[in-house]
Amino acid sequence: MSRYMSSRFDTLEAYVPGEQPQDMQYVKLNTNESPFPPSPEVLSAVNAAETGRLNLYPDPEGTALRARLAAMYGVEPDNVFLANGSDELLFFAFMAFCDSERPVAFPNISYGFYPVYAQLLQAPYTEIPLREGFVLNPSDYCGIGKNIVIANPNAPTGRAISAADIEEIVRTNPDRVVLVDEAYIDFGGESCLPLIQTYDNLLICQTFSKFRSLAGGRLGFALASKGLIADLEKIKYSVNSYNISRLTTVAALATLDSNDYYVENSKKIQANRAYTTAELEKLGFETLPSLANFIFARCPKVEGGALYRGLKARGVLVRHWDKPEIADWLRVTIGTREQMDIFLDKVREIVREAG
Ligand code: PMP
Repeated sequence: MSRYMSSRFDTLEAYVPGEQPQDMQYVKLNTNESPFPPSPEVLSAVNAAETGRLNLYPDPEGTALRARLAAMYGVEPDNVFLANGSDELLFFAFMAFCDSERPVAFPNISYGFYPVYAQLLQAPYTEIPLREGFVLNPSDYCGIGKNIVIANPNAPTGRAISAADIEEIVRTNPDRVVLVDEAYIDFGGESCLPLIQTYDNLLICQTFSKFRSLAGGRLGFALASKGLIADLEKIKYSVNSYNISRLTTVAALATLDSNDYYVENSKKIQANRAYTTAELEKLGFETLPSLANFIFARCPKVEGGALYRGLKARGVLVRHWDKPEIADWLRVTIGTREQMDIFLDKVREIVREAG
């Protein structure tokens, strides 16, 4: 217990991010980053344009970037909100919409930050169990009268649901916000973006961290009705009005200029996902169908923690959780073909040694 910290945080369990080791070079397949660098346009935009103007604050309204995103997604700038990573966006959303009268629900196996934000903000929350095979059953969320957070595709399972299923959930909870976290939508899932034209209570969160190779730039954005965006703005201007740096802004604009590069990269990742899944299945692994840039897999012979440690000792980092329901499973980010071949070689070695 801290001598100085408010006692309301005594029971708070902070989120534990994936390892970002600084000591040695790993084949890094643990935090769902893109293995591909930002496009050449991004590199030159950051070098040339804004560095000399870092003495000046950035535009608090993010005018240029919101206009570009709005044009790209066929909405208006007032339907777009920018945040310092979608983590900050999630935090603002929990802060804006959840309290003791407006509890929140999300799946029991999903992104680890959801329960942390609920605890931090002292909002009651319910974790709704996924069904057999980590399947999300939409009817578990229909008409429950709570705020709802669903990652689609889900993390760490990679499983996705359809926009029609999302619509049922949004339609049957009209007095509460349904937040759909589409961090991984650009690897094959179906976005529910068109629904924001019809439903005021749908909040879509996306990020530049995965598909757009910009995890280090920290940029997330929301697409939603103007009312929900105005609510988020109110929170942002009460916390940190300059939440997007100048360098991130120019990097993001250049990213949007080179969309084809990122679409090509996503195709490669999807091909590597199919390849890695097939190779793991040859080794007897159980895998889930993934529409994200990672796969969730379980080895019949080697327990999850042991496989994680064996891979780490061999220079390959993947993600493992001690949580009982998923302790047998590993989440493996999909990298380049070369990275996946190294990963698979090390897996084969460990499985062979296990007999
Ligand atoms: N949502 C989900 C489901 C995630 O897996 C992540 C990445 N860990 C995030 C949001 C946050 O991503 P970022 O803050 O980098 O945008």
